[in-house]
Parts: sequence; structure tokens; C-alpha cells
Amino acid sequence: MVTVERKIQRGEFSNEPFVNFSMPENRKAMEDALKKVAGELGREYPLYIAGEKITTPEKMTSINPSHPNQVVGIFQKATIELANRAVEEANRAFERWKRIPAEEHPECLFRAAEILRQRKFEMAAWVCYEVGKTWPEADADIAETIDFCEFYGREMLRLAGPQPLTPMKGEKNYLVYIPLGVAVVIPPWNFPCAIMAGMVVASVVTGNTVVVKPSGDSPTIAAKFVEILYEAGVPKDVVNFVTGSGSTVGDALVRHPKTRYIAFTGSKETGLHIGEQAAKKQPGQMWIKRTVLEMGGKDAIIVDDEADLDSAVEGVTVSAFGYQGQKCSACSRAIVTQKIYDAFLEKLKERVAKIKVGPAEDPDNFMGPVVNKSAMKSILDYIEVGKKEGKLIAGGGPAKTADGYFIQPTVIAGVSPKARIAQEEIFGPVLAVIPARDFDNALEIANDTEFGLTGGVYSRNPEKLEKAAEAFHVGNLYFNRKCTGAMVGAHPFGGFNMSGTDSKTGGKDYLLLFLQAKTVAEKITS
Ligand code: NAD
Repeated sequence: MVTVERKIQRGEFSNEPFVNFSMPENRKAMEDALKKVAGELGREYPLYIAGEKITTPEKMTSINPSHPNQVVGIFQKATIELANRAVEEANRAFERWKRIPAEEHPECLFRAAEILRQRKFEMAAWVCYEVGKTWPEADADIAETIDFCEFYGREMLRLAGPQPLTPMKGEKNYLVYIPLGVAVVIPPWNFPCAIMAGMVVASVVTGNTVVVKPSGDSPTIAAKFVEILYEAGVPKDVVNFVTGSGSTVGDALVRHPKTRYIAFTGSKETGLHIGEQAAKKQPGQMWIKRTVLEMGGKDAIIVDDEADLDSAVEGVTVSAFGYQGQKCSACSRAIVTQKIYDAFLEKLKERVAKIKVGPAEDPDNFMGPVVNKSAMKSILDYIEVGKKEGKLIAGGGPAKTADGYFIQPTVIAGVSPKARIAQEEIFGPVLAVIPARDFDNALEIANDTEFGLTGGVYSRNPEKLEKAAEAFHVGNLYFNRKCTGAMVGAHPFGGFNMSGTDSKTGGKDYLLLFLQAKTVAEKITS
């Protein structure tokens, strides 16, 4: 009954609206937040293990990629022993947290969403400084975080209620969803708040306890979010916060025998490594560890002869260069049919020339920096490979606008479907344009990588769209719109093949990954 009442009180889920930065009051709020947060850069953050604030002799720093001399936060380098202790504490907390009635856990998420709404601009400012997101991209990251709290909170209320079973004569039978245990949450840096928070809150709301190890490129945002969860009433031993090297601390957390599951989002290489580690039974381990592994992409947009060319050019540009191409959903291949190939390239070149690159805190820039020095090097190396594999149409090197890690939006045309820049995830502002004979050939090329995350088709022909709906093998397919920007609830997100386990974040199946079902049947004696 409580469940039903709370559902009514909460209303249906709807997405958090994005901030309209053309309104003077919103621009002022963001400028004020950037100023406030600038005064808080460079502070030190401890590990949080069962509420204890722990510092270590060795530190690591997070820097602002728009201005690499600026330290955003100083963090602890946890040892293997501290990582192990975090799992032990989370395991102890699980014995208590799992007993709290399932419909009570969502309250903390709804409170966290409310706090986030109040500090929206401030949190967006942290995202802007720590990972180089422009204002609208940073705002979207926080809006998605709020959405995850609101959506998973409601989902848990649904799952905590009675579940439909076929009645058995002479028996009383029912099914309940129960939590699994200790979650190790390993997020990437590119949605530093939303993806990290999504995996954490999905675990907490299902009654599991968490050790979160954020990416070394975005620990400050994770620390701020964990503090918000504590403020919202999540007990400190239910979410433990451990920073340190991915390979040392990450491996220790994954291997620990009391780790029950790993929720990971990141590269294919790390995801496969985690899958392998988690599959090995450790001494004293009582269960098969679950892994939820969301990985990379080599996403394509098909531009067909029957497309609205202007809208295709716009969609490809925004998908390829929004957040510097550092989204798993980013368009890194435009597959264009022969008839309109030249016209498309001409228009694309004009459009890309208009993109402004520079520090993320300046709202005039559409593109900010790439996340760090090694990403910059790796992307520039790929551009050199690309120059040999096709014809450079736009960009082709660093953008010398400031001292940060800026790269020009780069387009390389005439690329063969099997070229390295058409097959390997670059994760930067580099678009390969691949010519296709016709629509069927375009579909074949689109499917011919090991990934399968997002895809797009621009065409006015409904038959072609229908064909693509069936044949284009990706987890998230978009027609006549950009292939980025999945919305919680509307576009459950996750990919096929080497793009991951297709967990469909922000969808109605997601929480089941963090639960197990128990069926109880009792013979009725009359
Ligand atoms: P990454 O694989 O380098 O790192 C991801 C996380 O794994 C980080 O927290 C890192 O510290 C940790 N890690 C590294 N080595 C580890 C180990 N041995 N054991 C345990 N943890 C370890 O990825 P990244 O650069 O942070 O993120 C970019 C990648 O993420 C891209 O490939 C992108 O496509 C992918 N991504 C996928 C999705 C999706 O939903 N499919 C969403 C966002 C990003």
C-alpha cells in the first residue's frame, strides 16, 4: 500500500528539462557558479570507507584540460589493503541495508535528485572544469543524473510491489526481488556525473552496497556526488569511495571474493579484462560474480540519396564533434551513398569550418578540450594514420587557441570501410567519411565493425528506414536525428557485440541486473 501511495505522490517520471542558456538569468547563474567553483579548485579529498575519511601518503591530481596548470582536486592513491577494506566494510553494511524494506530505499534517491536540482549550476561548473564539457554538455550530464535518481527510484517502487505469477491451485506462491551484495562500480570520465551516479544509485536503490572507484580524470565530480548521497541520507558505509590506480585498485576490487558484481562502463580493453578477472573464482568466493560491462563504439550515420541533406549535415556534425567526439555514442563514421557524396562533403566542410574550439568555460565555444595529454597524443596519432588512409577535408591537428588539449574538428574522406580509422575507436573529434555504392552497401559497411552501440540513418524513404530498423545491428538506432543524446526512460541505452552487455541504462530492465528473484510457494492445507 505504501508503494502505491508513494507512486501516486511522485507522479510519472519525466525528464529533467535542460537549462536554456540564452536566458540572461541562466547565463548569470552559470557564470556565478563558475566563479564560486573556481574558488574551490585544488582542494584535497579523502577516501570514504565506512564513513572514515582516510588519507594516504601518495596522492594523485585531477587537472582542468582547458588549462592544464589548474589543479581541480587532489586525491588519495589507495593501496590494495584499503581497497580490500572497502569491500569488507561494504559487505558488513550489506547485512543491514538489505533488510530495510525495499520500498524505502528510493527515498534517498528522490532527496538526492532534489539536492542536485538546487546545485545544478554548481555541479555543471565542476563538470566544465574537470573534464572540459561546454555549458550545455555539462548541464545535460547533471540533468541525466537527476533523471537516473528519479527513474530508478520509481522503478524500484514497481519492483518492490507484487509480481505477477501464474496462480497454482492448492498453493500460495509469490516472487520477490532481493539484492545481490557488494557492487564494485567502475565508471569512465566522459559522463563523469551521470554514468558514475547511474551505476551507484541503481545499486543502492536495489539494496546493494557499493565501492565506487572513479576515473582518475574525474574524481572530484564523483566525490561531490557521493557527498550529496550522504546528505540525502544514504548511510556512509553503503557507498564507499576509493580513488587510486585503475589497474592496482581496480583489479583488487574486482578480484575480491566478497565482491558480488561489477558495474563497469569504459573501454573495450578494460571491460574485457574485468570480465576475465571476475570470472576466476577466488578462494572463499561463494558466488559467480555478475558483470555489467558497457564498452566502446564505432558508431555510424548512414546518409542516403533520399535524405534531407542539410539536416543530415547538421546531425552528423553535432554527433561527431559534440563534446569533442568523446561520447561512446559519437558518430565516427559517416557512410554516404554515391549519388549525394560530393554534395554532402561540400556542405559538411562548410559546416565544420564554423565550429569554434576553445576553453570549455567560455560559452562561445562549441568544442572544448580533449580530456588529457595522452588522449591528445593518441587522437593526433590517429589523425596522422587517417591522413594516409583518406583525404583530409577539415582540421588535421591541434587547435592552437589556448594552452589546453585542443584538437581541430577533423574530417577525413574517401576512407575504406576496413581502414583503421573506420574500425578502431578513436574517441576524439575525428570523422571518417566512407562512400557507399547504395543503401544496401551502406548497411553492410555500417555493420562491419566489432562494435554495435549507436547508429543513425538519414533518409525520407520509409521502406529504407524499415529495412535499417531490422538490419542495422546496434543497441540504439536513430532515424533523421543525431545519434547522441539518449534520454532516460525514452531511449534505454546499451550496445551489442564488443560494445558491451547491452544493459540498457535508463530502461525498465536495468535494475533487474542488480537483483535476484526468489520464488516462494507454500502448500495450502485446508
Ligand atoms: P577506461 O577503460 O580507460 O577506464 C574506465 C574505468 O576503468 C576507469 O575508472 C579506470 O580507472 C578503470 N580501470 C582501468 N583499468 C582497470 C583495471 N585493470 N581494473 C579495473 N578498473 C580499471 O575508459 P575511459 O577512457 O574512462 O572511458 C572511455 C571509454 O568508455 C570509451 O571506450 C567509451 O566508448 C566508453 N564508454 C562507453 C559507454 C557505454 O555506455 N557503452 C559510455 C561511456 C563511455
